Amino acid sequence: MTPDLPINLYPKPSPNLIQADHLQHTLNELHARYRSLNQGKPASYIPELAKANPDWFGICIMGVDGQRFEVGDTEQLFTIQSISKVFVHGLALEDHGRERVLDRVGVEPTGDAFNAIVLDERSKRPYNPMVNAGAIATTSLIKGKGATDRLNRMLAMFERYIGHESYIDMPTFTSERSTGHRNRAMAHLMLNFGMIDEHIDEALDLYFQQCSLMVDCRDLAMMAATLANRGKNPLTGIQAVPAEYVRDMLSVMYTCGMYNFAGEWAYLVGLPAKSGVCGGIIVVVPNRMGIAVFSPPLDERGNSVRGVKVCEDLSQQFGLHLFDCTGSEKIT
Ligand code: GLU
Repeated sequence: MTPDLPINLYPKPSPNLIQADHLQHTLNELHARYRSLNQGKPASYIPELAKANPDWFGICIMGVDGQRFEVGDTEQLFTIQSISKVFVHGLALEDHGRERVLDRVGVEPTGDAFNAIVLDERSKRPYNPMVNAGAIATTSLIKGKGATDRLNRMLAMFERYIGHESYIDMPTFTSERSTGHRNRAMAHLMLNFGMIDEHIDEALDLYFQQCSLMVDCRDLAMMAATLANRGKNPLTGIQAVPAEYVRDMLSVMYTCGMYNFAGEWAYLVGLPAKSGVCGGIIVVVPNRMGIAVFSPPLDERGNSVRGVKVCEDLSQQFGLHLFDCTGSEKIT
C-alpha cells in the first residue's frame, strides 16, 4: 500500500543562528585556550620547515557569504605542503574526468603513514590521492604542453581558489627535491606498474612545486570556503573547479584527509579536512564556511596539535559534525 503521508525529501537548510560576535568571541577563546599548549614538534625533514616558530598560531574562518573571522597569525606565510593534494586532485578531475582518474588512483583510506611505499595489491593503484603515492600519480595527470605550461596551469588553478597570485618557495622546492627519495621510489614503483608514464622527474618536480606554494591562513580559509561554496570563490565569484567535482574532492578529504587519524577525525569532527606537515589544516563545512588553522607543532601522525584541538572544539560547540542531528546551534 502506498503511504499517503508526504515525505519531505528536501528539507530547507536551517536558518543562520550564529551571531558574528559570538563566532569571533569563540575564536578568541580557542586561541587563548590552546596558545599555551606546548605539545608536538614542527616537521624537520627539511631545514625550511624546521625553521618554523612553534608559537605561530592562527585561526581563520571564511563564510560562503564572504565574511571573515580570524585571530592570531593569519598573515604568516608558510608552504602549503600536503594540503595542495586536494586541489591538484580537483584539477586532475577537471582534466580527465572521474573514470580516468579512478583508473590511476583509488579512493580507499590506508591507515598507513602518508609516505608509505604501498600500492593496492590487486589493482596496483595507489590507495588514494591524499597519500604521497596517490598525489604523485594525480599530479602526473595534469595536462600541459611541457613542464612550464603544467606549472602555470597549476598556479592558475591555485589562484582561482585563493583569489590572488601565489608563488613557489624555491628553497623549499629544492630541499624537497633533493631529499625526496621515498617519493622518487614510489614514482618508480608506479612506473613499473604502468600507473604513471615515464616522465617521472617532471611529475615529481611538479609535485614538489605544489607542496612549496606559499600561503597564509587566510588563503587556506578562502580555499576551503571555495569548496564549501560549490567550487566558486566567495569573493571573486570565479568558479575554481567545476561544481560536479567538489563532491569527489570532499569525499576523499572526508575519508583520507587527516593521515592515519582520518577515521578518528571523521568520528570526532565529522567534516572533510586536509592537513599538511606545515601545520595547516583546512576544514570544509559544505554550503556554510571554510575553516583554516595554522600551528606548526605536529603530533606523531603529522597533524597540527593545536589545529586538531581547535577543530574538535569548533565542531562540537557549533554542532558542525555532518551527522549531528541533535539540533544544536547551526550556521548557514
Ligand atoms: N612535501 C611533503 C612530502 O611529499 C608533503 C608532506 C605532507 O605535508 O604530508 O613528503
